[in-house]
Amino acid sequence: MAAKPRPKPGCPVCSKAARPKSSFVPFCSERCKMVDLGRWFKGEYVIAGEDAILLDPGELEEHLRQLDESSGGGGARGEGGEHDDDA
Ligand SMILES: [Zn+2]
Repeated sequence: MAAKPRPKPGCPVCSKAARPKSSFVPFCSERCKMVDLGRWFKGEYVIAGEDAILLDPGELEEHLRQLDESSGGGGARGEGGEHDDDA
């Protein structure tokens, strides 16, 4: 009785043999890769639950910066005024 052979590296989704040089390894195709990814995301959703934001602080910061740029900039417009005729 020999030791159990390792399972052949196949597609985790459809268990077809993946091409060694495939860019979707260990999946046999992009489709199966996406299927697996979809499962992952569903799992993430369940785990994330209440705190939905799982971005890195740096990533979030960059995202906010992009939002700020696209909004036209100049947030302090309309309030007060630039002339201060006090003196
Ligand atoms: Zn597959």
